[in-house]
Amino acid sequence: MIYFDSAATTLQKPPSVARAMVRTMKACASPGRGGHPPANRAAEAVYRCRQEAAGLFGMDDPQRVVFTSSATHALNLAIKSVAAPGDRVLVSGYEHNAVLRPLAAIGNIRVEQAAAPLFDRAALLESFLRRIDGVSAVICTHVSNVFGFILPVEEIGALCRERQIPFVVDAAQSAGLLPLSFPRLGADFVAMPGHKSLYGPQGTGLLLCGERPVRTLLEGGTGSLSALSEMPDFLPDRLEAGTHNVPGIAGLREGIRFVRARGPEHILRHERQLAGQLVGALSQLPGVTVCSGGPEESRSGVVSFCVRDTDCETLGDLLAGEGICVRAGLHCAPAAHRSAGTLETGTVRVSFSIFNTPAQVRQFCTVLRRLIR
Ligand code: PMP
Repeated sequence: MIYFDSAATTLQKPPSVARAMVRTMKACASPGRGGHPPANRAAEAVYRCRQEAAGLFGMDDPQRVVFTSSATHALNLAIKSVAAPGDRVLVSGYEHNAVLRPLAAIGNIRVEQAAAPLFDRAALLESFLRRIDGVSAVICTHVSNVFGFILPVEEIGALCRERQIPFVVDAAQSAGLLPLSFPRLGADFVAMPGHKSLYGPQGTGLLLCGERPVRTLLEGGTGSLSALSEMPDFLPDRLEAGTHNVPGIAGLREGIRFVRARGPEHILRHERQLAGQLVGALSQLPGVTVCSGGPEESRSGVVSFCVRDTDCETLGDLLAGEGICVRAGLHCAPAAHRSAGTLETGTVRVSFSIFNTPAQVRQFCTVLRRLIR
């Protein structure tokens, strides 16, 4: 099998991830629930992951790293902390439904999109600048999950800071892959999954929090200030009601350790090399349109393409029949397809991890050539 769907979830993880999860299941109870050794071990496992994440993202205070069950959960916390009915919210034209649906669910929000052609970072920044004055919040994905387009979030963050506008970054496709310093980015919230380029298990996510007040989505036990009828007002407890996913968090710590040991820049270089190899080979195939372009700095390790007169979902199924796992369709991001002009057709998306090889890309191209003939 060739697994090229890491933008959804990385399948192959460092072996240390599963080992830590099993060890934790056997030895750990719930953090903050009792002073006995299994509870203390759990508290330590959870805190170590917070420290590891804070280290990767350049944060001084690990308590501002909040555990969630996914990027979607983290985005809901962030978005519902900065947006309310009646607001005008500015987003990029490349957002995932994990951003657009929470905004729609709040209701009565005017969502404006900063539009720009694919891979044109300057035009996108210009579009943000034209629309930003007077908005209540800005939410932007760091990397498009469909096209691998790297958006200029640091520059957009600077525009927000100058105007004191809350800024939320969806780092679902960048965390663990692109250099990401929370203090340098200056965002109020950065949301990410643990199960993609941080190589943790499914059921994990992180929300990095700045100084803005946060609203709870869930209320319940935290193991702290139990006499209070409200949630504690300090992080991370305020946003972490209920028992933690301790094995998942222990696994995520090992994933983050792996990323830090390899270096995100090394992993990105590897994925970009594979993407470049793939784009070069696809461009030689008749009837294939590759959604690529711009300088290399504006692209990650995700490649989308269409094949003339071929339904992309059918092609995805045919590839699956050949043991090749890709994703086809709209990838939960219809807005991104609308911006790129691929809403009608969708695309076939290939996405890499550190564990993929140039030989797999060559094999993929051989199979694809046969299928489209
Ligand atoms: N945002 C983007 C850009 C994504 O690619 C994804 C995952 N497809 C999400 C948010 C949601 O992530 P999760 O599945 O962890 O909730």
